[in-house]
Amino acid sequence: MSNPFAGIRWIWKNGQLIDFEKATVHVLSHALHYGSGVFEGIRCYDTRQGPAVFRLAEHLRRLENSAKAYRMPIAFSADELAEACCETIRANELQACYIRPIVFRGYGTMGLFPLDAPVDVTIAVWEWGSYLGDEGKANGIRAKVSSWRRISHDSLIPHAKATGQYLNSILAKIESHKAGYEEAILLDDKGYVCEGSGENIFVVRDGRLITPGQTASILDGINRKSIIQIARDLGFEVVERDLARAELYLADEVFVSGTAAELTPLRKLDDHAIGDGRPGEITRAVQAAFEDALHGRSERYREWLDPVPVQSAAPQVA
Ligand code: PMP
Repeated sequence: MSNPFAGIRWIWKNGQLIDFEKATVHVLSHALHYGSGVFEGIRCYDTRQGPAVFRLAEHLRRLENSAKAYRMPIAFSADELAEACCETIRANELQACYIRPIVFRGYGTMGLFPLDAPVDVTIAVWEWGSYLGDEGKANGIRAKVSSWRRISHDSLIPHAKATGQYLNSILAKIESHKAGYEEAILLDDKGYVCEGSGENIFVVRDGRLITPGQTASILDGINRKSIIQIARDLGFEVVERDLARAELYLADEVFVSGTAAELTPLRKLDDHAIGDGRPGEITRAVQAAFEDALHGRSERYREWLDPVPVQSAAPQVA
């Protein structure tokens, strides 16, 4: 497998750009032992106006909220982190990339009480194609309902994008992969449909879009929110409600959404073909409008894209 990070020279760490090779952590870092980190996945697109980041402020707000949920003070404001993301993209001379900020408990203490451990912040960027493949985006993927249930509100914080919580996604992802599928769909603790291992889910039935709501243990996806708005703007009804597993199999169309996967249709779920086994009309209409928004081709959603300024006010190279 080729190294996705080849060519990346700079990583932002605690206020400075440092050499890629020096961006390492100690084996006794708290987050390595206990999963005590929170992170974001953000994308920058190569638009006609230059590189632009999709809904950067909202991703950074979710990062702050995830950190707050786990009582991790971040030493940088959202504005400083936004500037740091842009600085890292510029330094690595990328036009389009994936952006991965992470806030984690670092080196200094051990044991479960985390509040004395330092909180480190890093931002990395790299070029990353569509997570579930271009072919999957065009023709749909095959997914499997996982035997693993999504983490629930009574033991963890589904709204937080926390590193340790992803062991749940990893179990589901491995299971689906070993069974020959491209993605896993997790049910929540009550047996209702929740989301993919790293995406939210939408079902189309009788011309309406249905997606699980805020109390369904979902991660409150930024692309989910964007797609709800786009679908409504296109004149479709969107309902947020509990979704029974059977509705997946009875659906006319199903798709997942996320920063990495963007909008990817499902063509098969377990051994059921969805619709006629090809992405449906509503999925394709919403996907086309969404892709236009992501790539800066849509005037209507231009405000969702933050252009990466050509130069920073103050270069931060260490
Ligand atoms: N659910 C999970 C578990 C995820 O990891 C992601 C990706 N961040 C999503 C949903 C989709 O969120 P977003 O649209 O903000 O990327």
